[in-house]
Amino acid sequence: MARYLITGGAGFIGSHLCGSFLNQGHEVICMDNYSTGAQQNIANFASNRRFTFMDHNVSRYIEVQQALDFVLHFASPASPVDYLELPIPTLKVGSLGTHNALGLAKAKNAVFLLASTSEVYGDPLVRPQNEEYWGNVNPVGPRGVYDEAKRFAEAMTMAYHRYHGLDTRIVRIFNTYGPRMRMRDGRVVPNFIMQALNGEPLTVYGQGGQTRSFQYVDDLVAGIQRLLASGEHYPVNIGNPHEMTVLQFAEKILELTGSTSEIVYRPLPQDDPQVRQPDIAKARKLLGWEPKVELDEGLTKTIEYFRSRLQEQEA
Ligand code: UDP
Repeated sequence: MARYLITGGAGFIGSHLCGSFLNQGHEVICMDNYSTGAQQNIANFASNRRFTFMDHNVSRYIEVQQALDFVLHFASPASPVDYLELPIPTLKVGSLGTHNALGLAKAKNAVFLLASTSEVYGDPLVRPQNEEYWGNVNPVGPRGVYDEAKRFAEAMTMAYHRYHGLDTRIVRIFNTYGPRMRMRDGRVVPNFIMQALNGEPLTVYGQGGQTRSFQYVDDLVAGIQRLLASGEHYPVNIGNPHEMTVLQFAEKILELTGSTSEIVYRPLPQDDPQVRQPDIAKARKLLGWEPKVELDEGLTKTIEYFRSRLQEQEA
């Protein structure tokens, strides 16, 4: 049995990681300040004796009494809408928060894993994106607060590895969806599903020709577990290579929800990446990992989740 500390543990991905480690019999300390996370995401674990919650902003010094085997740094606003509203906390949690989480891992002699992102590739000039690509990021654009914080976080993680000999991992997470996403977090998956379920128009930004590749959260969690068990210190992409345009995605949501909502077009946000598709050759070879959940299957579960949340609200 090992003890895991997960920053952002009450968030969408963080809470799935908490659940997965608890199911395997481990101890989990979930740290969150509910900036974008939610108590409801971890409500099921509250009665588990191996689960502890710590209300803390990781951009401030972190103090933990217990010994730790793993520190997983997942705290950060992650929806473009959130990080545009919270630009300075986003920069702080990616920089100061990463430094504090690394310092904690070093003090505890724990393995450290950084949740990085496909956003380090910015608006990429190559497709698909492999880990060797250095990216095309606008540092002073609105998304720079997230992209540059994560790029700094990767540099800081490698410095702790090289200078302090810390055992570190970096996962570059591509668009991920599933239950426990916030209903109104502004990202395309919750937006389209909520709009379809409420009979409102689906808001496609730009012409909808930009592409994304969507991975179900269970596949991501499996990839992270494999990465932790590997000895790889350099970044590894974890995502689903199944690429589609945003317009095709809107049509898929209409089909799966059976909604008759129309599609409307809205202005494209500044620096919105035109393409995004992970090259997962490294994860396949090194981790023996690839995504297993088909888009229809994952989306059906996610739509069910949003439906039941809507029913709860109406009740
Ligand atoms: N998008 C859209 N309509 C929405 C929300 C998002 O067309 O209501 C587009 C957005 O412009 C982007 C893609 O969907 O091209 C994915 O956006 P999201 O906010 O999910 O995250 P991103 O992949 O940009 O980080």
